[in-house]
Amino acid sequence: MPTPTLLGVPYDAASSFRRGAAGAPSRIREALHSPAGNVWTETFVDLSAGPLRDAGDATIPERGDVLMAIEAAAARVLGDNGSPIALGGDHAITYPLVKAVRRLHPRFTILHVDAHPDLYDEFQGDRYSHACPFARIMEAGLADRLVQVGIRAMTGHQRDQARRFGVEVIDMQAWYTGSRPMIDGSVYVSIDLDGIDPAFAPGVSHPEPGGLTVRDVIALVQQLGGPLVGADIVECNPDVDPNGLTSRVAAKLVKEIAARMIGSVT
Ligand code: MN
Ligand code: MN
Repeated sequence: MPTPTLLGVPYDAASSFRRGAAGAPSRIREALHSPAGNVWTETFVDLSAGPLRDAGDATIPERGDVLMAIEAAAARVLGDNGSPIALGGDHAITYPLVKAVRRLHPRFTILHVDAHPDLYDEFQGDRYSHACPFARIMEAGLADRLVQVGIRAMTGHQRDQARRFGVEVIDMQAWYTGSRPMIDGSVYVSIDLDGIDPAFAPGVSHPEPGGLTVRDVIALVQQLGGPLVGADIVECNPDVDPNGLTSRVAAKLVKEIAARMIGSVT
């Protein structure tokens, strides 16, 4: 069984409004190892016993192809029999990460938690903006299904894109009246922390009220039936997270994702 492996991706140059997410990987690791908590998961996996590796941070080149460098870093984790849990960085990193995972796993569904659908064809002239990764993923046929949860900032253009790509959108209105994703088989999980309500995860660049609780997202992860082939947790911005709460939410999600990759032990 592949070993869950942290991969920091300190990249935020594709952010459209406020940079800062590049500082998140170290803060999330700090929260994960903080003596304020312990490393047992809710499903009773002891992560101190070795089943969570850390591959360090991907090297982000100052010049040249950043996305290719991220893809190569993820490929190294996968080649080392690891399941990547990438720590963003902004959401632009998901496209190269999924590209690397797809080479090893020819079939999977993406479960995407976000306030925003990130389906723009281009944003402010950039096709690789953090507002575009799921357009690139669907165009390239890198997911069998894309299921989005927590959406509450849809636009007309992105609704057209969602229809064109066959994206299954469970927006917050549908979630509130009880809609839940039905997913079987292998899954890649991409969590934009702004999918969670800013009451619980305020340290993001695009806070959007009316979102999911931390418990909603943990339950989504814990209830996945099939193998978890990879994950990313993106858009934590330490510059606007002075009390570290959002890093702590990210660390909590890391633990429960790692536990799902390992399988529950009782
Ligand atoms: Mn978002
Ligand atoms: Mn996003």
